[in-house]
Amino acid sequence: MTEVRLDPQAVIADLDELAGQSGGRFAGAKRLAWTPQWLEARSWLTSKLADLGLMPERDQAGNLWARIDGAEERFMIVGSHIDAVPDGGWLDGALGLMTALETIRQLTRAGTRPPIGVRFVDWADEEGARFSRSLLGSSACAGTLDPDAVRDLRDADGISLADALATCGVDLDDAPAAAERLGGAVAYLELHIEQGPVLLEAGRPACAVSGTVGVERHLMTFTGQAAHAGSTPMRLRQDSLAAAARAALEIRESAIQHGGVATVGRMHAVPGVITAVAGSTEMQLDQRHLDPAELAAMFVEAREACRSAAEEFNCTVEEREVFRAAPTPFEATLVELARESVREAGGDSSEPIPSGPLHDATEIGRVLPTAMIFAQSDPPISHASIEDSPERALSVAIDAYGRAVGSVLARAREMTSKGAA
Ligand SMILES: [Zn+2]
Repeated sequence: MTEVRLDPQAVIADLDELAGQSGGRFAGAKRLAWTPQWLEARSWLTSKLADLGLMPERDQAGNLWARIDGAEERFMIVGSHIDAVPDGGWLDGALGLMTALETIRQLTRAGTRPPIGVRFVDWADEEGARFSRSLLGSSACAGTLDPDAVRDLRDADGISLADALATCGVDLDDAPAAAERLGGAVAYLELHIEQGPVLLEAGRPACAVSGTVGVERHLMTFTGQAAHAGSTPMRLRQDSLAAAARAALEIRESAIQHGGVATVGRMHAVPGVITAVAGSTEMQLDQRHLDPAELAAMFVEAREACRSAAEEFNCTVEEREVFRAAPTPFEATLVELARESVREAGGDSSEPIPSGPLHDATEIGRVLPTAMIFAQSDPPISHASIEDSPERALSVAIDAYGRAVGSVLARAREMTSKGAA
């Protein structure tokens, strides 16, 4: 049996039951990772899985797994995350996880062995809201978590990440061993709300996701000469803020040309008073694109725009990289399969869209064929208690997810597993 039909109402009922633990849909989720409330939500999830006769187990990084065996050892993975930002929405993470739970429920009900196994996962600490380190559990599985780099991160109360994990029975130093969980996996599928305005604006209920965009962050510091605003003629100024402003507008144009996004989120001018030409100005620049070559080209153009603007205003400019994350395009055949599933579920088959936010699928997509489906967000706001999606969008997205799982199972024979020769 490879056809998987999900009941959107069952998913929504589970979502309401989960939201009910913290006062209902729009009362603000209380499931911050590594807290008693998060553990409570997980015991609720564990009892849901137990109702299906499944005994979930935790891996070394604190991810929660349940399994349905298939005719073959190889398996696909369905899941998302139950943790939430403080006072977060009722759908972020929970939608994908409850849909994965419904997937497992339908497969259990069918009673026949799928061609390959299906494993359910609730990734630990996707949000990183407490220690500013997102995707903790999934990065451990993907092999990109370095315990030493996160050990001393502290929450607002001064508690270290390592200690918080320990109170939940997770030894940070063992976390990377969770990577062994992916041995034999052929694919990962995740459903999530879009958390942005693109689908709403296009009137699309759901769509396939092409990948997660890469990010480049730089500080560009323009240096000129601070001078009196009254006595310094315009032609003799070395105005660092004027140079930065000219560059910022060019960088904006370049992002539009390349089909990416660029944001100058802050300009810090010194001395920063109304009566002085700015002697130095620090520009904070964030650039994102799905295509690594386009992203690199956007930065080269930004650097060039800064240099020529600095020259024009008789200033100099220095650059410093502060953060970068490589783009993760999802696997083309799986993206196509997700797109077809959305169309069959009553959506449209227009172009997949890239994700601006990072997801567990970003980490897993580095090591495993991965695809995502987005449900429309309306209002297009997330990480807030007003987060919502129209019921039709939820239905199409949930239905599409089941169809995508069915297609992966049907094509399992053609897929090779991680760790296979
Ligand atoms: Zn999420």
